[in-house]
Amino acid sequence: MITKNIAENITFIKKRIKIVAERCGRKAENIMFLGVTKTHPAETLDEALAGGLEYIAENKIQESEDKLPVLTQPYKEFHFIGHLQSNKIKKLMPLNPALIHSIDKLSTAKKLDAYCSTKGIVQNILVQINTSAEESKFGIEPADAEEFVREVAKLENLQIKGLMTIGMFTDDMEAVRNCFKMLKNIQTDIIRLDIPRVEMKHLSMGMTNDFEIAIEEGASIVRVGSAIFGARDYSTKN
Ligand SMILES: *Cc1c(COP(=O)(O)O)cnc(C)c1O
Repeated sequence: MITKNIAENITFIKKRIKIVAERCGRKAENIMFLGVTKTHPAETLDEALAGGLEYIAENKIQESEDKLPVLTQPYKEFHFIGHLQSNKIKKLMPLNPALIHSIDKLSTAKKLDAYCSTKGIVQNILVQINTSAEESKFGIEPADAEEFVREVAKLENLQIKGLMTIGMFTDDMEAVRNCFKMLKNIQTDIIRLDIPRVEMKHLSMGMTNDFEIAIEEGASIVRVGSAIFGARDYSTKN
C-alpha cells in the first residue's frame, strides 16, 4: 500500500515493522528504519523528515553532496549504502555518514582507514556480502567473508558493526529469504570466531519488497525507498 502521501507511507511502514517484529518476538525499537532517498529532491526529503523519517540513506556521493546541505529539516543519521569508489572518499566523509554499509574491497577499506587516520576519527562500517550469487551485485562472496572481516578488522580507524546484503531480485520469496538466512548464518559464524575489534550488531537487509521477510530473519536495519516515495524516476538522469 503506497499512497501519494509520504507521511502516511512512513507511518504505515513503521506500523508494519512493529507488527512483524512483535510477531517474531522482537522489539521494533531494535530495528532501524532507513529511508532511501536516492533520486528524490531535497524538498521531498524535507517532507519525509517532517513526516517522521529520522534516518536517511543515499547511494551516490554527488547526489548526497547536493542534497544534504540544503535540507531544512533535521535528521538523526545519514547512511551511505552505495558502492564506494576510493577516489570519492574525501567527498563522502565531510557528510558525516553514521554508517557506510557497502565495504567490499580491501583496497578501498585501506584508503578509507588512511583518510580517517589523518582526521583522527573512527568510521563505522558494514561489510557487504553477495548472498544471491548474482554477478551484477557488489559484495564479498560468502566463502570469503571471514577472511575479509579479519583483514578489515586490522584497520584501526574503521569499526565493523555488522553485515549488509541485497536480497535476490526475484518474485521467489523463498529464494530471497535464503539470502537473508545466509547473512544471519555468516553473522553467527563470525560472532563465534570472536575476532578482536569486530562487532556483529547489525544486519542491514530488506528493502521495499522484502523488508518484512528480512525482519523475520533478523534484520536490524531495513532500507526502504519506494514504499515511502513511490517508484523512482530515472528518466531525467543520465
Ligand atoms: C535503492 C536501494 C534500496 C531501496 O530500494 P526500494 O526497493 O526502493 O526500497 C535499498 N538498498 C540499497 C542498497 C539500494 O540501492
